Amino acid sequence: MALNKEHRKKRIIELRKLLNDYSYYYYVLDQPQVPDIEYDRLFRELQDIESKFPDLITSASPTQRIGAKPAAAFPQIHHITPMLSIDNAFDEEGVLNFDRRIHERLHLEDGAKIEYVCEPKIDGAAVNLVYENGVLTQAATRGDGDVGEDILQNVRAISSVPLRLRGSKFPSLLEVRGEVYMAHKNFNKVNLEASKLGHKSFVNPRNAAAGSLRQLDPKITASRSLDIFCYALGALKDYVLPQTHSEVLIMLKDWGLRVNAEIKTVNGIKGCIDYYKLIATKRDRLPYDIDGVVYKVNDLSQQKELGFVARAPRFILAHKFPAQEELTRVLNIEFQVGRTGVLTPVARLEPVFVGGATISNATLHNIEEVWRKDVRVGDTVIIRRAGDVIPEIVSVVKDRRPKNTHLIELPKLCPICGSKIIKSADEVAARCSGSLFCTAQLKEMIKHFVSRGAFNIKGLGDEVIDKLVDANIVKSVADLYSLSQEKLVALERQGEKSAQNILQAIAKSKKTTLAKFIYALGIREVGEVTAQNLAMHFGDLSRLMQASIVELEAVPDVGPAVASQIVSFFSEKRNLELIERLRQSGIYWPQQESSLEKRLYGQIFVLTGALQKMSRDEVKDKLYELGAKISESVSKKTNYVIVGDNPGSKLDKAKKLGVELIDEKKLLEILNIG
Ligand code: NAD
Repeated sequence: MALNKEHRKKRIIELRKLLNDYSYYYYVLDQPQVPDIEYDRLFRELQDIESKFPDLITSASPTQRIGAKPAAAFPQIHHITPMLSIDNAFDEEGVLNFDRRIHERLHLEDGAKIEYVCEPKIDGAAVNLVYENGVLTQAATRGDGDVGEDILQNVRAISSVPLRLRGSKFPSLLEVRGEVYMAHKNFNKVNLEASKLGHKSFVNPRNAAAGSLRQLDPKITASRSLDIFCYALGALKDYVLPQTHSEVLIMLKDWGLRVNAEIKTVNGIKGCIDYYKLIATKRDRLPYDIDGVVYKVNDLSQQKELGFVARAPRFILAHKFPAQEELTRVLNIEFQVGRTGVLTPVARLEPVFVGGATISNATLHNIEEVWRKDVRVGDTVIIRRAGDVIPEIVSVVKDRRPKNTHLIELPKLCPICGSKIIKSADEVAARCSGSLFCTAQLKEMIKHFVSRGAFNIKGLGDEVIDKLVDANIVKSVADLYSLSQEKLVALERQGEKSAQNILQAIAKSKKTTLAKFIYALGIREVGEVTAQNLAMHFGDLSRLMQASIVELEAVPDVGPAVASQIVSFFSEKRNLELIERLRQSGIYWPQQESSLEKRLYGQIFVLTGALQKMSRDEVKDKLYELGAKISESVSKKTNYVIVGDNPGSKLDKAKKLGVELIDEKKLLEILNIG
C-alpha cells in the first residue's frame, strides 16, 4: 500500500506538471500542445487519484484551480464575482448522475422534473463585461477565475458587444459573462491571410478567438471580426433579479446583449438529452464551433440552494460532444503516386477514433506541407476530423517526439517505379517522371493510350486494363501488343469472343499517325493539339526526340514549360526503350513531310462564302497537307482570305485589316490544282 501511494504521488507530480504546462500553452500563449480530449483524460486521471488519496490534494493542484494566471503584458482586473469552470459529462450516464445528485440535494422525489435551460457550449474564450450605468467600463479575460487580463480596448472593437446598453431600465452595475468566438468564415479568412503573409496559422477557431482577443494592438483585434454570445450574469446592483435563468437571458437580450438563438428551456433531464441529440445533428451546419451543450438549472432559487464545489457550480453541467481532435502516432509516411504522377505524402497512423470514425491515414497533400508541419515518423500528432471534412494532421506534439527522428525528404526516385522525381521551384507538387513505366500511373496511362485520340483500341475497357495490370500481365503499354487469346481468357470473367475482339482492335491500332503516336506517349502537357503541331512541325519522330528546347519553342503553342517536359521525357532511357519496343511490335505511320519543308508552312487562311469546285473540308485537308491551316476568324495574323460566293462579314474585316484577298481560281493555283 505504501509503495502504491508513493507510486501515485509520483504520478500526481507528473500529471500536475503536464496539466500546468498544457494550461499555460492553452490559456496564456493560445497555442495548445495537445487536444482537449487528452487534457481532459489527464485531468480525470489526476481527479481519480486525488479522490482516492484526498490528503494529497493541494490548493495548487490543477483540479482545484481555474484557467491560468493572467499574462504580465496586460493590466490585471479583479472580477467582482469569480468566473468558475463547469463540470463535464462525456456520456448519458454522467448526465443522469448530475440530475440524480440535484434531486438528492434539493430533496426532490425521483419522479419530479427539474426545469433546465439548454445552451450550445460555444468554443471560444470567456470574457467578463462590466457595465456601469449602462456604459461598458470593463472587459476582462477569465484568467484564473479571480483575476483576469484587462482587454477593454480589444473588446470595444467587437461590433456585437454594445458599448452602451439599450433602453433606460438597467442596473447601476451589471457584470455579464459571454463567450467571444470567431465564426468559421472569419477563421478561414484570417488563416488565408496569415498563410499569404507567411505567418503561422491558427489551429482552430477557439485559439484564433483567444489569440485575437489578447492582442496588445486593438487594431489587430478589430481586423479579426470576432463575435460574442452572452450567457450569464455576475454581479448586479439596484435591480430586481427575475426568478429564472431563462428570464435573465431575455433581460440580457432586451439590453442589446447578444444571446444565442439555439437556447431552449426543457422539462426534465430527458429533454436535455433530446436537446443534445438535436444540436449534434446541427453541429456541422452552425457557423461557429461548439464543443458540447450546457445544462443549467432554470430556477435561480434552486441554483442558490445547490451552490458551488471548489471550482464549479453544482447547477451547471457541460455535456461534451465526441472529440473532433485526438492524438495518435505516425507509423509511416508513404508517397502515393497519382494519375498524373503527382506524389502525395500520406501519413499512416495508429488507428484512432475521432469525429465519429476510425482514422488510420491522413493525406499531407504535398512535401511542403510535411515540412511546414514538420511531421516525422514516430511523432505523436493531433488529428482532426470535423464533419465530412477529410481528416487532417493539425500539428505535432513536439515534446513527445522520440529520439532519432528524421526530417522527411522528398524521394529522389519514384517509390513505385524508380524513375526520377521532378519538382520545379515554382510548383508545390512533385512528380514521378516515369510516365508509362510507373505501375501507379500505368492503369490510367493505358486508359489514355487506348483512348480515341490515341491508339483507339476499342473493347479494352477500364476493367480489363485494371485486371491486366493487377495480374502483372501488362507492365508497359508495349505489352498490349504481345497479348494473346490465352492470356486474356485467363482473366476472370473474360469471354473468348470479347478476347478475340480486343486482339483484333489491338492489331488494327498498329497503323496510326505520328500525331496520335506522340499523344499516346502521355508526355505531360502534350495534349492532342500540341501532339499534332509537333508532328506537323518535325514530320519525323527522331527529329522530335532530338529537338532542343529552343527548337521546340518554335512550334506553335509550345512554351518553355511544355518544351522542357518533352526534353525531359525523351532523356529518360526507358522511354526511349519503350518507343523502340512499340515500333518493334509493328506500329507504323505514314511518312510525313516536316512542316518546315512544306511549301505553305505557317500560313493562315480564312474562308468566307461558298466555293464552286472544293468543299470547305477539302480545302482544309489540302492546306493542312501543305503545312498551312484554316482559321475561323480574320486577324492581323491572317495571310489570305479566300473569298467565295456570298461572302460574309469576314470580307469587310479583311479589307479593314488590309489582308490579301484571293478568289477560288487563285486558291487552286496556290494548291497546284489545275
Ligand atoms: P470548459 O471550457 O469546459 O467550460 C467552461 C467554459 O465554457 C466557460 O468558461 C465558458 O467560457 C464556456 N462556455 C461556452 N458556452 C457556454 C454557455 N452557454 N454557458 C456557460 N459557459 C459556456 O471549462 P474550463 O474550465 O474553461 O476549461 C477546461 C477545458 O479547457 C478542458 O476541459 C479542456 O478541454 C480545455 N483545456 C485544454 C487544454 C489543452 O491543452 N488542450 C489546456 C487547458 C484546458
